[in-house]
Parts: sequence; C-alpha cells; structure tokens
Amino acid sequence: MKRQFVGFASALALLLVVPAGISMSAQATVQAAQTQAAASQDAPLPKVFLFATGGTISNRDGGRLTVDELIASIPGLDRRVRGEGEQFANAASSSLTLDQWLDLSRRINARFKSDAELSGVVVTSGTDTLEELAYFLHLTVRDERPVVVVGSMRNPSTLGYEGAANLEDAFRAAADPASRGMGTVVVLNDEINSAREVTKTDALRLDTFESRRYGVLGVVDSDRVAYFRKPLRRHSAQSEFDVTKIAELPRVDVILTYQGATGDVITSVVDSGAKGVVMATAGAGATSGTQGEGMTYAVGKEVFVVTTTRTGSGRIMSGRGRRGQGGGPTYRIAGDDLNPIKARILLMLAIATTNDGAEIQRMFSEY
Ligand code: ASP
Repeated sequence: MKRQFVGFASALALLLVVPAGISMSAQATVQAAQTQAAASQDAPLPKVFLFATGGTISNRDGGRLTVDELIASIPGLDRRVRGEGEQFANAASSSLTLDQWLDLSRRINARFKSDAELSGVVVTSGTDTLEELAYFLHLTVRDERPVVVVGSMRNPSTLGYEGAANLEDAFRAAADPASRGMGTVVVLNDEINSAREVTKTDALRLDTFESRRYGVLGVVDSDRVAYFRKPLRRHSAQSEFDVTKIAELPRVDVILTYQGATGDVITSVVDSGAKGVVMATAGAGATSGTQGEGMTYAVGKEVFVVTTTRTGSGRIMSGRGRRGQGGGPTYRIAGDDLNPIKARILLMLAIATTNDGAEIQRMFSEY
C-alpha cells in the first residue's frame, strides 16, 4: 500500500482542528495539499521513498508503528523531503524470508526505474540481520541512487528511543546527492557505514554498528551529510546480479570452526540440500577436528565451500581455500575479507547466477 506522509508537528496541529469523524486519510490529503503548496513556493524538495519492514524501530508496546506513524515521528520532515512510504512488512528482521528479500529488491529496482525524480530509498529493518539485508540490497539494487537501511536499538516505548533520530538521518542521507554511487549504506547513531563492511558488534549498545578497521564512510551531522571515503568494490549500478532473473535463492549454510569440530555437521547440511557452505574458520583458513573430511565430502558432491574467518576482520587469501583441490573444477573458494554471513549472501547470489567455480572466485575478488 502506498501512502503520502505528513510531518508530526503539522499532523498534530491538524488533529487539534479537524473535527472528530474526519478520517485519517482525509487529514492526510489536506496535509499533503498544504505541504505541496508550501513546497511549490521554493525549489522542489528531494523525493525519498520509504519501505518499512519492522524491527525494534517500530516495535512499540501494544502494537507496532506503521509506516505512517514512523514518518509522523520526525518533526518537520515534510520541510526537508517529499516522500511516500509503503508497509512492506512489520516483523523482526530474522523472520523475513529470502523470498521477501528478493521481492523487496525487485520493488526497489522497479521504483528507481519508474521514477527519475526519486533521490533515494530508505528501508527500516530490525537490527539483528540488518547487515545481511543491507549487503543483499548493495549487490542487487542496480542503480547509482542510494538505499539507506536504518533501525534502532531502543523501541518506541523506551525512554531514549533513538529510532526517530536515526530515521531522520536516513532520510537526509537518502536525499543527499553526495550519497549517489555509495550503494546501500547503513545509518544509525549519526554514522554512515557501507553495507559491505558494517556489522552489529554489540547486542544492546546504541553504537553497535561498526565497520571495524575500515571505519565509517561518513556522518550525518546537523549542518550536513559529510562523506570521507567511497566503497571501491563492485556494487549496485555495476552489479551483475539481476533479481528479475533469480526465482529463488539456494540454500547456503555457515559452519563455525572451533576446537575439535566434527565434519559430520558439514555432511549433514550437504545431505539436507545445501548448495554452498561457508566455513567461518578460526584464523586465516585453518579448520579443526574432522572438518576437513566434511569439506572433502561437500566438494565431492559439487557443493561450493567458501573459506572465511570468524575473527571479525582480515582476508582469506586467494588459493588458500583451494589447497589440495587438484586440477578439476573449482569448488573451494577463498572468501577474501567478507565476514561469514556476508560471504553467505554473495555465495547465494553467485550460485543463483553461475555453476562455474572460477567465476564464483572472481566474484569474491570483485564484490
Ligand atoms: N529483534 C529485532 C529485529 O532484528 C532487533 C532490532 O530490531 O533491533 O527485528
């Protein structure tokens, strides 16, 4: 459902003067007309589209905030941007399905294609798997214009709820021309991080999203949106991943290395239908216990095995994952510097696109 949105302060004023019995949509129409009249006196405001998917940012006690209520929580937003919103979902991030991810990406692509005036898109998400959705969009929304993924750590019923401030920052980043070419970014706590690098580092703290050694791309300050660097790896407008051609994402599992880990876990996911396995190894690629036997079993079944590190940063060098493979087709892939869950996203898209391991290794070196 598509909605015009209205500013909170003006909506509140309207509520005080509009007689009881006039519907919310009538108020929204009056407000939209007022907003439009005010805007037409100046240059057109940047246009931003919001897809709301749920998460803590909308998880109020007694009922989740709708897309309209989220928008209304930002005072004076209608003086900064022209916007529309859609309630895509209203659930915890981890309960969205991979089919919903595909659908969301298709919808964002279609919206950019059909609306040349649109400056950017904002997506609200729960924070638990936010970085996974963000990286998926970074690889599949094929446009120069930004997608800004935003959430919050405190819910709307909590003192110090930071969701409205984060959402305002997200709108400002999505509207700003400097965000073009940045791909999908994550905005929380006034910081802009690249979807490729950002990770949730703390279960509770407000400054949980970090790009570790790489640092922020930019910040959203009260004077302006300021960028300091740009993502260099292939993404968004340069991406080869076309979600209109992907009907479904293949099963890919992540397996952790720890002392004495057993290979039967790998055998089991392969026998259950996994098309890819990401090894979150303890260091720069070494596995433990009998995991090597499980990996050999997987490769024998033509299942792609990507080696990554569980340490939080650092590269798996190319060739490392392929040790002992011989001269046949490549099923062992080095995951470069992607963390295990980001590597899973790229591997799902890679397997949905090709069954050539050398091509998949190229993708891990380029994206
Ligand atoms: N459980 C929530 C989710 O990921 C956490 C959050 O939004 O912060 O949907």
